[in-house]
Amino acid sequence: MADEKAPYSLNSKKVAEATRNLLHKRGVTTEEIAELVMVLQKKYYPVLTMEECIENVEAVLSKREVQNAVLTGIQLDLLAEEGKLLSPLQDMLVHDEGLYGVDEILAFSIVNVYGSIGFTNYGYIDKLKPGILERLNDKSDKHVHTFLDDIVGAVAAAASSRIAHRKQEEVELETHGTTEEDHNL
Ligand code: MG
Repeated sequence: MADEKAPYSLNSKKVAEATRNLLHKRGVTTEEIAELVMVLQKKYYPVLTMEECIENVEAVLSKREVQNAVLTGIQLDLLAEEGKLLSPLQDMLVHDEGLYGVDEILAFSIVNVYGSIGFTNYGYIDKLKPGILERLNDKSDKHVHTFLDDIVGAVAAAASSRIAHRKQEEVELETHGTTEEDHNL
């Protein structure tokens, strides 16, 4: 059935699916983001497992604000790759201009989802650029990942913050048998 005239209404399931598909299409797996989380968190939680890291990355990716940022950033990368943006934005994105900075601002909307402790993690992983971040920063191929590298780092940073909040909750539950409820985590 043609739904050209159907009034617009948000389909959250489609947004979530599109987020997953786009990340996958751009060569980013949940496991690779989870590896970044492990890099960030293993010194604080030596018993942390990859399964926990993956679970936390998935929880971050299920948030609407995160999905919106992923869709927006990857779309701009794709348009830049296809040469479809207006100059000078086109040239700034293709050359990953250091003084542009909107890629990082967009990533902050992801980092923010679990509070300001994510900023430290984001800054750290962005400087270190381990694993997938090194690959996304490789400028020698035709791909434009100006937004994606920050998005991936931000998802890992947010997942790390989620782990930190939840681990604290566990400690408090064990100690007091109760915890502050409704952290919305
Ligand atoms: Mg960038």
